[in-house]
Amino acid sequence: MIANPPPWPGGARCAVAFTFDVDTDSMLHYGLPESAHTKLTALSWTRYDEVAIPRILEMYRRYELQQTFFVPAWVAEQYPHLVEGMAAGGHEVALHGYMHELSNTLSPEEEASILRRGTEVIERIAGARPKGWRAPFYSFSPETARLLCLEGFEYDSSLMGDDVPYLLRCDEGDLVELPADYQSDDWPQYVQNVEFEYLMPIRAPARAMEVFRAEFEAAYEYGGLWVSMWHPFVSGRLSRAHEVAKFIEEVLGRGDVWVSRLDEIAAHIRSITAAGDYQPRVDRIPYYPGPVAAEADASDSSQTAT
Ligand SMILES: [Zn+2]
Repeated sequence: MIANPPPWPGGARCAVAFTFDVDTDSMLHYGLPESAHTKLTALSWTRYDEVAIPRILEMYRRYELQQTFFVPAWVAEQYPHLVEGMAAGGHEVALHGYMHELSNTLSPEEEASILRRGTEVIERIAGARPKGWRAPFYSFSPETARLLCLEGFEYDSSLMGDDVPYLLRCDEGDLVELPADYQSDDWPQYVQNVEFEYLMPIRAPARAMEVFRAEFEAAYEYGGLWVSMWHPFVSGRLSRAHEVAKFIEEVLGRGDVWVSRLDEIAAHIRSITAAGDYQPRVDRIPYYPGPVAAEADASDSSQTAT
């Protein structure tokens, strides 16, 4: 089913990453800049990260796993103790915007400035320069790959174009893409938020985990990479964390799954590619230089004129 599965370390059948998007209350202030500070219930809902992140760190310490946390720089400044806890646990801290901005609504200068400022903040608080990026709301822009290459990033995990890692190529270099997908994100399973007018049926944890289990089983069967996205204040809630812990035990119980930080997966792909043991698929970025519909309209009208 997968045309080009990479060889995984130690002969593992597939690679798995539990990645965390640590938005906390950044996106509330970004989305509702004038009124977020008055919405204490919504703020407390996202600030549950204060409970969920120590719980998750303890869980991963118990399973001896190090994973990847994507953190907006403002969140790192606001809650440095949480980021220090991630770094102390051997986890990777990667960048997720400054205030959870939509990258594809920013000018290239604004996007570049957020990357520079965010990199400085994460390096100062986590103790290591971020190597990876996930665009807030998956809002990867036509400029993002180029700017990430210029800032020295190794990989992105925002796009959704494959079941295995691939390369994003732009004039400034190559990024490893470690693809995400909406069905491996906890948000559609669990989130109902009146402030965002986002009203979805909330799944029972066991039911939600069926989706994640199916994704993992397919990656295991066909040698893929399964990147899952978890928001601590969403799936770090008690009953949901309980189900995730059971699932992690199942994954580890297989004994032939590589559960790793994303920076290590990206480094592995670069290393086997350099050694000639693997040829990743390459996507040239951006896909289109400008609006496609406008060009089609223009060519239509020129045909009419002639
Ligand atoms: Zn986010």
